Amino acid sequence: MKMEFVIPTWEVPSLPIAGTNARFPVRRIFCVGRNYVEHQKEMGGDGREQPFFFTKSTHDLVPIADGASVSIHYPPMSTNYHWETEMVAVIGKGGFRIPVEKANDHVWGYAIGLDMTRRDLQQAGKDKGRPWDFGKDFDQSAPIGVITPASKIGHPAKGKLWLTVNGAPKQTSDIDQMIWNIPEQIAFLSQYYTLEAGDLIMTGTPAGVGAAKAGDELVAGIEGLGEIKVKILPAL
Ligand code: MN
Repeated sequence: MKMEFVIPTWEVPSLPIAGTNARFPVRRIFCVGRNYVEHQKEMGGDGREQPFFFTKSTHDLVPIADGASVSIHYPPMSTNYHWETEMVAVIGKGGFRIPVEKANDHVWGYAIGLDMTRRDLQQAGKDKGRPWDFGKDFDQSAPIGVITPASKIGHPAKGKLWLTVNGAPKQTSDIDQMIWNIPEQIAFLSQYYTLEAGDLIMTGTPAGVGAAKAGDELVAGIEGLGEIKVKILPAL
């Protein structure tokens, strides 16, 4: 018997996949903090501390079709809205306490994402010892592009990452600059959660985060994964 719901249901959040019309269903979004040395320094850190994670709701997803551009609104209640360009690891097979050397077997593919951040609200959370949700988990805060399957590109551990804003370079790094690489992140996170197929991990941003304003055009890329284009509209 078909289940009946008392309000209309919504579609399963999903991402496009390179080279097919099939979609990848998204279950959860985990994000690692301060995972590139130079970014850790710009945020006031020092050295290689244990990784830490926060989450975004799948409701925040803004999927970007191959070669497409999306527009998102400057968020409410913030005057310091930051970009963070990140590689996204897409979990295709779940697991608990996954060993580092087996971690890549759990990755279905990779994508480019922006961990858009209300830096002022994140800072207020830090100052008061409160959660980061208002700073990180808000409408349209996770634009993510097409997934390139690992079956096509393997498991890249090196490759240029960049972001330009209105054509000017703002973030330039390489994914080999991660403090905790993707297998290490999976091993760490899976000690705390049973990872499931459909989970995403946003794997951290390099130095060069900064404030976006309405009218800006962000173009983020990672070698082998293409580019995503995001335009910032005025606040609602
Ligand atoms: Mn981030």
